[in-house]
Amino acid sequence: MAVAIGRQKVHVKKGDTVEIINGKHRGKRGKVLQVLTKDGKVIVEGVNILKRHSKPTQKLPQGGIVEKEGAVFSGRVMLVCPKCGKLTRVGHGYLGDGTKVRVCKQCGEQFEK
Ligand SMILES: [Zn+2]
Repeated sequence: MAVAIGRQKVHVKKGDTVEIINGKHRGKRGKVLQVLTKDGKVIVEGVNILKRHSKPTQKLPQGGIVEKEGAVFSGRVMLVCPKCGKLTRVGHGYLGDGTKVRVCKQCGEQFEK
């Protein structure tokens, strides 16, 4: 039975580079492909690859094994700062016009998004 855990706050966004800090995929880095806010999980490029047998489709007429990333709990990933390359937490800052931006707590640099 699935347990409803409600909407989780996920601290990373699609396109962020993250490192897995916990569990069997620890130390792996990749780009966030998808954020599953409802589950508090993220899908990270190249991490937690699941092999699935698929039925024949137009793309794969013979069917076969499809490799697809599985979700990992967002609590197990930490953001990698694109500026300083360190594992970091996200801070918030404000631009001159009051726009809220995400900043690296390690180097203080602003993230693009
Ligand atoms: Zn940084």
